[in-house]
Amino acid sequence: MDYRGLGLKVGLEIHQRLKTHKLFCGCPSHLREDEPHQWVKRKLGVSYSELGAIDPAARFESIRARDFFYGVYHDTTCEVEIDEAPPVPLNREALEISLQIAEMFNMEVVDEVHVMRKIVVDGSNTTGFQRTALVALGGDFSAISTKWGDVRIATLCLEEESAYIVESKPSYAKYRLDRLGIPLVEIATYPDIWHPDQAKEAALKIGRMLRATDRVLRGIGTIRQDINVSIEEGARQEIKGVQELDLIPKIIEREVQRQLNLLKIRDAMRGRGLGEGDFNQSVRDVTHLLVESKSKLVRKALSSGKKALAVRLPGMKGLLGVELQPNRRFGTELSDYAKVFGGVKGILHGDELPGYGISEEKVSAVREELDCQGDDNFVIVLADPDSGKLALQAVLDRVKQALKGVPNETRRALPDGNTSFLRPMPGSARMYPETDILPVITRPYLEVVRSVRVKTPEQVIGELVEGYGLTEELAWELFDSEKDRLFIRAYLENKGLPSRFFASVLTGLMKSLKREGFDVDRISDKHLLDIATLLAKGELAKEAVEEVLKGIAQGKYKDVLQYLREARISDQELERVVDEAINRLEAKIKEKGERAFSAVMGEVMKVVRGKVDGAKVSKLVRRKIKEKLEEVS
Ligand SMILES: [Zn+2]
Repeated sequence: MDYRGLGLKVGLEIHQRLKTHKLFCGCPSHLREDEPHQWVKRKLGVSYSELGAIDPAARFESIRARDFFYGVYHDTTCEVEIDEAPPVPLNREALEISLQIAEMFNMEVVDEVHVMRKIVVDGSNTTGFQRTALVALGGDFSAISTKWGDVRIATLCLEEESAYIVESKPSYAKYRLDRLGIPLVEIATYPDIWHPDQAKEAALKIGRMLRATDRVLRGIGTIRQDINVSIEEGARQEIKGVQELDLIPKIIEREVQRQLNLLKIRDAMRGRGLGEGDFNQSVRDVTHLLVESKSKLVRKALSSGKKALAVRLPGMKGLLGVELQPNRRFGTELSDYAKVFGGVKGILHGDELPGYGISEEKVSAVREELDCQGDDNFVIVLADPDSGKLALQAVLDRVKQALKGVPNETRRALPDGNTSFLRPMPGSARMYPETDILPVITRPYLEVVRSVRVKTPEQVIGELVEGYGLTEELAWELFDSEKDRLFIRAYLENKGLPSRFFASVLTGLMKSLKREGFDVDRISDKHLLDIATLLAKGELAKEAVEEVLKGIAQGKYKDVLQYLREARISDQELERVVDEAINRLEAKIKEKGERAFSAVMGEVMKVVRGKVDGAKVSKLVRRKIKEKLEEVS
């Protein structure tokens, strides 16, 4: 793909949580997994009417007019998170960390940090806004170098994390407050990136610098990337919540593909002489035409009191079936809109019918009812009348946008590299000063920060190589997979740990198990530390580690000791296995003498691999061969 020619432009926004308490209260940055102690219901305090005229995201929320429920924890959240008490002054430690990061990136720190309110309309903050403060500005002097050229850092902001979304429905949303207010830095680059792999490299390098400070939180969810993507003829998309770096290039490639295909649809629509006016269609009730349908889907919906509503899409035949991304068609995009705006389960459209048990005859009846001519298409939803109308209106609006090309959207990254519609992109950030928080002069903090020496990622790697006997490659792998601290702890606690081998367990082996589909989330740090201890003591064979981890991932063993109890071969049993192999290969041993070793070893390992230390087996095999030779001579 000629990305330069297409005018690909990508910018990154990297959000990294900091290792300190919350930004505007003293609560710990502690994420909970248990059910909140209480749910508090709120309406959003922002005036939609004021914003709605100018902002598509606000208009979108006002159409939905949802209730919001917030889950509080009496021991780890307070009145600040639920907005019943004013915020306390900005967390100074968080400020220091963000200044330190700004210094690492060689950015220009502002003289005074002013906290601003950025309006959020999706309920993810109890106040109706997110507090954010610009800490430093970048430019040519603060660029990350990559194989494809420099990527300039634009801004560094200190922000509060949003509340964690538990459930989102058209009529309500539920959020937990344990996450709200955790400090994070947002590092935004200029859209200098022009190649999908360059985006990954830049994100990797920025992440490494953040981790090298040792003052940021680690683990799943503690760092996430938003990716802004556009091509010359397309439109900027904000793709949210990318957690795996490896997925970044694929997401960008597929977004380019999606935009190119949307442009093809635009051209086809124009070629057919379609205009916006064609899609001012009214919604029709076609329930009576489908009551006797054999389709399970239809019968189930209608028997639960839902209606079948439909609209005509003039001239759109064939275009809803056009694939935008692998397994995602234009019809899928329309379905996303119907789901998000109307809360329906999905749509049925003319390019996939007859199908889903709906016969040719029923399709003809619907087409006739809607006055569909030759290349007209149609969409059906099964829903209550109000939701169904909202859904179909959203479909019509989206089809109108297709005439212009690619709409600006906020999209969600999917695990396969595709994206789905999340909401319209908000208008340019609406910010106003946070009057509850005084500005902070940065100079005294900068002096403190400058007196502390911060390691670069390269220095961290150097220490791992020199101090722990690792290769540089293994050291980077440990660092990038955030297993370096676990490794160091295991090393210090266990004299005689085979360090390179254990490092490769933490990196390569864990990665390959995940790739093979094992549920590696079941493998805890404690499991891995136990493995280190038993390896160092010689009680667990290297060959057995893979089997132990697989067993734990499958839920077969609850810990490493259980494996040892159940799977380890006793000395007597090992001796029996060796004796058997020797007897089987007696002729060969007589013929070749001690050179028969590898043949015997192979036979034995077939039975005991992973259950006993290879070195122990080889010692026993040598002794037994010797005995056999003495016996026969
Ligand atoms: Zn609090």
